[in-house]
Amino acid sequence: MSATITKIDCFQVAWAPDGQFPAVSAWVQVHDSEGRVGLGEASPMQNGEPSLSYLARYVAPALIGADPFDAAVIQHNALNQGQKLGPQGIVAGALAGLDIALWDLQGQATGQPIYKLLGGAWRTELPFYASLGGLGRLSIDQVLAVVDRRLQDQPALLKLRMEHPRGQKDTDIQGDIAKAKAVRAHVGDRVALAFDASNGYSAGTAIKVGRVLEELGFDWFEEPVEHYHLGTIEAVARKLDIPIATGEQAYTLQDVLAQINAGVGIVQPDIIKMGGFTGLMDCKALALAYGVELLPHQTQPVIGHMANLHFVAAQFQATRPCEVNDASDRQHAVVQNPPLPQGGRYRLSARPGLGLVVDEQKLAPRKRPISTG
Ligand code: CA
Repeated sequence: MSATITKIDCFQVAWAPDGQFPAVSAWVQVHDSEGRVGLGEASPMQNGEPSLSYLARYVAPALIGADPFDAAVIQHNALNQGQKLGPQGIVAGALAGLDIALWDLQGQATGQPIYKLLGGAWRTELPFYASLGGLGRLSIDQVLAVVDRRLQDQPALLKLRMEHPRGQKDTDIQGDIAKAKAVRAHVGDRVALAFDASNGYSAGTAIKVGRVLEELGFDWFEEPVEHYHLGTIEAVARKLDIPIATGEQAYTLQDVLAQINAGVGIVQPDIIKMGGFTGLMDCKALALAYGVELLPHQTQPVIGHMANLHFVAAQFQATRPCEVNDASDRQHAVVQNPPLPQGGRYRLSARPGLGLVVDEQKLAPRKRPISTG
């Protein structure tokens, strides 16, 4: 008889040492009857509160006594239970956080790192790319300064995110093009580059900018237009040779398939938004079957990042470096062994589960439990 779930804690973790809000992450700890604690993380949108509340109130109570090895059954049942609320966004994020914690428990119970449970690692040293955000608000000189700072970690690629105000279109086309050209001129051919429009262009502009990116030798063009305008994505993908990447706003296998059918070359589901390991393993099979690349989106520095590394390690066709959103040490203080790159690589150990050791003393002042009342 394997161990059973005894308690599920859902809480926010403040990034500031004094626990000050509002910048937080959304964590899940699943306790089992052998005293083990599995770690999970949900999407941090709106500080993770909607997903954590949903999990704490509507999912967790029914799982006391359940078997952590039933992760896929638990997810299927919970997804169907919340069907009319989603399955996008809040529900999918909640179940992703839960799923990661269940896999961490499975790893601890078997003494195996998660990548072994996923079928084994093709590699345990993983190159990464640095994702540079908010560049639309900066001058060219400021952008180049950010580039130089991030290159110190030796990423395999830099992704340039303009991040103009959401909902607006074609805010600063000439500025975006000028920054892409300036960064290419600055780094030459020694670093690969990608460009992320964060849904900020109309179709015509996306094609125009995409052609410049092709000239500049960029590796991919991410979310050029709104993710839900599938016909527009298809029109852009048909006109351009540079691979189009989308999928960070996909929450179901069907969402990912719709992006593939629209002609994207790289799909980017996120392990803390879409089904955890259970969801991403389905995506892996889908991408393999359709011959598109799967490059998971990932922005969180500790649990989400480690979960992503385990998944990518077990991905035979991992064609691109793993995403690292920023170089800050947020959350690092609350674990004894935060993941840090060395020589342009993250290295996975053979520690069981995710391999993270939480420093409960440092976590305590940053922890904000989610009310279930
Ligand atoms: Ca993006």
